[in-house]
Amino acid sequence: MTRKMDGAEVIYADFIIVGGGAAGCMAAIRAKEVNPGANVVILEKAEISRSGAAGRGMDALNNVVVPGIGTVEEYVEAVTITADGVMDPTISRVIGERSFGILRRLESWGCEFPRGQDGNYIVNQFHPKGRFLVEMRGDLKKIIAARVERAGVRVFNRHPVLDLVKEDDRVAGAVAMDLATGDLRIFVAPAVLLAAGGGARIGLPNTGYLHGTFDCPWCNGEAWKMGYDAGAVLTGFEYTGTSSMTRDFNGPGLSTFIRHGAWMVNGLGERFMERYDPLRLERAPAGLRGKAMREEINSGRGPLAFSFAHLDESTIRLIEEGIYQAERPTMRQYFRRKGIDLKRHTVEVVMSEVYLCGGHGLAGFVGDASAETAVPGLFAAGDCLANPYGFLPGAMVMGEAAAEKAVSRGEARPSGHEGWERAKRLGQVIAQHRRGALEIPIRDFEYKFRRLVNEYVAPPKSEHKLGRFLQETESMVAEQDDLPARDPHEVMKAFEAKAGLFCARTAAMASRFRTESRFGLYQERVDYPQKDDLHWKTRVFISRGPAGPVLRKEKP
Ligand SMILES: Cc1cc2nc3c(=O)[nH]c(=O)nc-3n(C[C@H](O)[C@H](O)[C@H](O)COP(=O)(O)OP(=O)(O)OC[C@H]3O[C@@H](n4cnc5c(N)ncnc54)[C@H](O)[C@@H]3O)c2cc1C
Repeated sequence: MTRKMDGAEVIYADFIIVGGGAAGCMAAIRAKEVNPGANVVILEKAEISRSGAAGRGMDALNNVVVPGIGTVEEYVEAVTITADGVMDPTISRVIGERSFGILRRLESWGCEFPRGQDGNYIVNQFHPKGRFLVEMRGDLKKIIAARVERAGVRVFNRHPVLDLVKEDDRVAGAVAMDLATGDLRIFVAPAVLLAAGGGARIGLPNTGYLHGTFDCPWCNGEAWKMGYDAGAVLTGFEYTGTSSMTRDFNGPGLSTFIRHGAWMVNGLGERFMERYDPLRLERAPAGLRGKAMREEINSGRGPLAFSFAHLDESTIRLIEEGIYQAERPTMRQYFRRKGIDLKRHTVEVVMSEVYLCGGHGLAGFVGDASAETAVPGLFAAGDCLANPYGFLPGAMVMGEAAAEKAVSRGEARPSGHEGWERAKRLGQVIAQHRRGALEIPIRDFEYKFRRLVNEYVAPPKSEHKLGRFLQETESMVAEQDDLPARDPHEVMKAFEAKAGLFCARTAAMASRFRTESRFGLYQERVDYPQKDDLHWKTRVFISRGPAGPVLRKEKP
């Protein structure tokens, strides 16, 4: 149902999904399966057939408990090792239990899962323990986007969500902007799923390109800012992750290379992980691998690279097939132009900028086994949910779990009046951006705080540096609504920059609160160099209080 409220279009639904990536699409499909009569809406800032982290292609499901190869208990143990003991296993258990079901669904829809010579799925090791990574081929995102269409879901592409709506203590909808016209649309529903990914543009890559990031650059923590403002609880923001990226090519390789047994070598040709983790080597937890890479670079033993010379032809072919056919088809051209032949040459990698992510790290909303947050009716799934290293299967499983709960409760639709109030307030903020009193381009604003992240928030961290960051960026927060935006696209960019700054400051606060070092590189404090299991084997929760952010330990 659609009606007008003081000139603004109001659209009533049963379930609103913010972000049509892997989690959002799977949630939408599942919602229609569970309740075919439900009015399900996806609001997506881009276009769902190619949007999100998976839009560029994926060559594996990183974490599937395949019967006969792994168990849910082993999976939870492997994730707990990578999370350095700091996680609530509830969500990881759900992911472990449902991950194989996701694989079978994707297979029935046309995703390919190549079989080995024994006729079984090809399952490799990527985690410090156990085998959970299943090779995948096919155009995953196109396949699931087509299923969304078939299911009869209403998709609003090019509709970035700028704010959430609440009625009393419950979520009641969201306000999105039509990028073509700049009009605000009010979407009213008793259940909203935040599936808008993590925070990619937090630190600055060494190339200086704002969008040249490891994680999907269109996801910049807007879900976190909106959810936090609405009362949801965040966690894991001190886990400021980095990954490795192929030099001068904006694409990964890490998991593809590691799971097939490639070695990481330094500029002296040494397999340097032998020095840092002789048993697990490249499969050491991400933070330890990151720390080792940083040590090698800082000690002048770079540049770092992956070496394949010891691998047999069939393994190299599997790597090439995965990258060229599924993960990054343009990498074939890149290697060709650089004259790189995996059998004979190494592939140089650099450390990525600092980012925040649930599916690749620990940062995100605190949710229950159905991904519901502390705000009734507000769910979160995928990279914006704290689902430690849940990757694609985690996003899809928790999207489905959220949908099942959201559309089976039979909640009454809210009135929508608060939506109109929200839209009115948003209209005022947008008008302020249109006036643009700050006269600093949005990209310079973003460049500045991200440069400061590299200087003060990226590890190694200290009370002094983190405090400096918070002090330096205070005036940016005060001025951010005056950022100039000439058109709807720039309005969206202004909201992205404000969300990025919010995430960076939240990361600084959480990193300062955790007075110990943990997670290898990612929470390395020079003033608290030791791990302190007695006081800190616990998550840090961040919520909005009357006088600003409130930080506390999960278990005081
Ligand atoms: C380089 C890379 C390689 C990876 N490789 C693998 C792999 O091989 N195997 C694996 O299992 N996992 C892999 N992952 C992880 C996996 O891709 C992610 O965990 C998963 O895609 C996250 O899904 P999501 O739905 O949470 O986020 P996304 O798929 O990123 O979707 C978020 C969506 O929200 C939209 N959005 C953002 N903000 C707004 C807003 N304000 N309003 C409306 N829409 C918005 C975005 O446009 C996007 O479509 C990889 C990740 C990366 C970055």
